[in-house]
Amino acid sequence: MNQVTRRLKTNARFVFSMIFMISVLDAYAQEVDILIKNGHVFDPKNGIDTIMDISIRDGKIFQVASGISIDPAKRVINAEGLYVCPGLIDIHTHVFVGPKVNKFANGNNSLSPDDFSFKAGITTVVDAGTSGWRNFPLFKSQVIDASKTRILAFINIAAYGMTGDAAQNDLSEMDVEMTVEMIRRHADIIVGVKIGHFEGESWTPFDRAHEASSKTERPLFVECHLPKYSLEDQLNRMHPGDIITHTYENIDERTPVVDEGGKVLAYVLEAKEKGILFDVGHGGAGFWFNQAVPALEQGLWPNTFGTDLHRFSMNAGMKDMLNVMSKYLNMGMPLEDVLLRGSWNAAKAIRREDLGHLSEGALADIAILRLKQGKFGFVDARNNRISGDQKLEAEVTMRAGKIVWDLNGLSAREFTRNN
Ligand SMILES: [Zn+2]
Repeated sequence: MNQVTRRLKTNARFVFSMIFMISVLDAYAQEVDILIKNGHVFDPKNGIDTIMDISIRDGKIFQVASGISIDPAKRVINAEGLYVCPGLIDIHTHVFVGPKVNKFANGNNSLSPDDFSFKAGITTVVDAGTSGWRNFPLFKSQVIDASKTRILAFINIAAYGMTGDAAQNDLSEMDVEMTVEMIRRHADIIVGVKIGHFEGESWTPFDRAHEASSKTERPLFVECHLPKYSLEDQLNRMHPGDIITHTYENIDERTPVVDEGGKVLAYVLEAKEKGILFDVGHGGAGFWFNQAVPALEQGLWPNTFGTDLHRFSMNAGMKDMLNVMSKYLNMGMPLEDVLLRGSWNAAKAIRREDLGHLSEGALADIAILRLKQGKFGFVDARNNRISGDQKLEAEVTMRAGKIVWDLNGLSAREFTRNN
């Protein structure tokens, strides 16, 4: 090799390394849309539980680190004293809102999700079987596609979902193949199959719902209070990963999880051992302290905090998901366990591990929460009250990097007369 060739090669190497360095520097100098500074980041999937900064660019989490410079940030949120968590996931809601009076499916017993989700730190709701294979397309166009909240769904084995009339019990319309077909067509939205509200004795609806869930490798979501099914029979028929809701309900003493002496029933513990997941499903009637308190003491903790949000529960003891989470905090569940169940555990339960964490590159669905200290009260379905001194409140909620809730304007600029 002569000297000229050698020099050319050295020059080329120099130029390439300069280009590389410039591109690296450029990546760091590029503007980020939002920087969340000095919050207590809680991201159980990635084992983060400490003070850190998070930057957001193009709707995604760009960087999670300590001491990120504020220079390239368009907006800075000072989250000192606050918890920065994955956007919360409520796996039990009824949001198929529509014109039918006093109905859940396409009716006003359901709620419009954006009205209630973001102010409670929620970025994803799962509709619990309000629609079935015949009216899921209407639900999708009318609500799912028209909402800012991410809406996923358990599809009901009843063809028209929760109609509240004879259609709910119509076996001839509980079609496994049509349900499977609808799930396959909307595989990114439908996360499982629901059985609930059937009033007969036949196990056919349950078995068909299970068949559709197995065929599509999704969980079965079971309302425990079907009048003719015992809790024990339902738990025995469920597979690991299936979800039972209204876990701590005790209407007419029909579906208790603890016996009269306050001891968790053996078959309930066996189901937990087997891998059945227990959802709170608070609702208007689904949460009783006489079940939940002894269950918590004896280790039957909920896997998820599904609220069973609907027109009646929102104004009763349930209120919203942060209130349900605060209830558990004051019943003695540690904060990290409460936050885990509101985010990453919920994502895993619905097998959507793309959600519920703050990994770099993930969609920036974030809840910034304040843990308030004071005198608070929490009420169950029987109007029993417990007192507490802590309550979670959503300061800021972000959905795909957009601020969709900001209680005290933490992301806004300070008013001056020149603004
Ligand atoms: Zn429900």
